[in-house]
Amino acid sequence: MRSQFRKAAVCAVVILAAACSDGPKLPVLELRGQTMGTTFNIVLIDPPSGTTLENLRGRIEEKLEQVEDLASTYRARSELAQFNLSASTEWIAVSFEFCSLISSALLVSQETGGAFDITVGPLVNLWGFGPQGGRDRPPADTDIEAARQQVGYTNLDADCGQPAIRKSSASIYVDLSGWAKGYAVDQLAALLNTAGLRNYLVEIGGEVKVRGHNSENRKFAIAIENPSRQHGKSYSVIRLSDAGTATSGDYRNFFEYEGTRYSHTIDPGTGRPITHNLAAVTVVHESTAYADAIATALLVLGPEDGMRLADELHLAAYFAVLTPTGVEYRPSARWLF
Ligand code: ADP
Ligand code: MG
Repeated sequence: MRSQFRKAAVCAVVILAAACSDGPKLPVLELRGQTMGTTFNIVLIDPPSGTTLENLRGRIEEKLEQVEDLASTYRARSELAQFNLSASTEWIAVSFEFCSLISSALLVSQETGGAFDITVGPLVNLWGFGPQGGRDRPPADTDIEAARQQVGYTNLDADCGQPAIRKSSASIYVDLSGWAKGYAVDQLAALLNTAGLRNYLVEIGGEVKVRGHNSENRKFAIAIENPSRQHGKSYSVIRLSDAGTATSGDYRNFFEYEGTRYSHTIDPGTGRPITHNLAAVTVVHESTAYADAIATALLVLGPEDGMRLADELHLAAYFAVLTPTGVEYRPSARWLF
């Protein structure tokens, strides 16, 4: 079964093992598993005495289940799937957590002029990147136009005082896949903070949060995959401490038809997958959920408009732009890594 977020940039980000170094080698605990159709990876450095994987694993898995129960379009019982199923255009009572999630995602839509838009679901599904599965050629123009008519974040309202959300028409279909992995990473980081961990790395499908230092008492080294289509794999390495990072790319989940690549990043304005030469965007931000969403938005906006917005919002962003000879990396003014 195709599963949610499966096209995650699973290998777009690699956590570098400690290289040769004279620094201390502190004790490390590692936990790996599957979630949201991708993998998760947790590294705990020098954990407080008494910390064991046995007593953390259950809580971590429970938290991941909670996020899927909240935000998965692949799980019929999830709060999101229930909301999508409802034809009501009245206020619908939801959990505070779900309401906050929707309301934060709507703020990113406003900030990005709708480049990030969680109501993009009908287009994601039409293009074969949703729960119903894939396709091997583009849909008909008339179908694209019909789906585009159902998209628009202003058709969704959140009032978290109640807490409740409302859609303006029954056909509104919300897709949180561009937000949920980063959100889950933040949730796990909060759980680790509560458990007394001070130095750790959490990664789900390429979205990462780190706190403190690695086993060599240095910032964590995170490798971002070169999205070039011509060359073998290579990586840019960034060093991070106390931050989240997310990468959105057009090169991991796509289909090709008659020599054209159609990726899972949809421009809500055109109703079609992006077509420009910006192949990947990495964002560093204290909120991994925000980094996840805004990286998708910048990717939609493309190399020029995307960079303009990144600088306007004072974001630390790193663009990988395809050129005839390979890849050109373009950092925003705030990119200091
Ligand atoms: P990745 O899974 O590589 O981290 P993203 O975080 O960019 O990728 O999320 C991509 C997913 O977000 C798509 O599979 C789709 O479900 C959804 N999506 C596609 N286009 C948009 C968009 N313009 N705004 C919000 N979500 C989108
Ligand atoms: Mg993402």
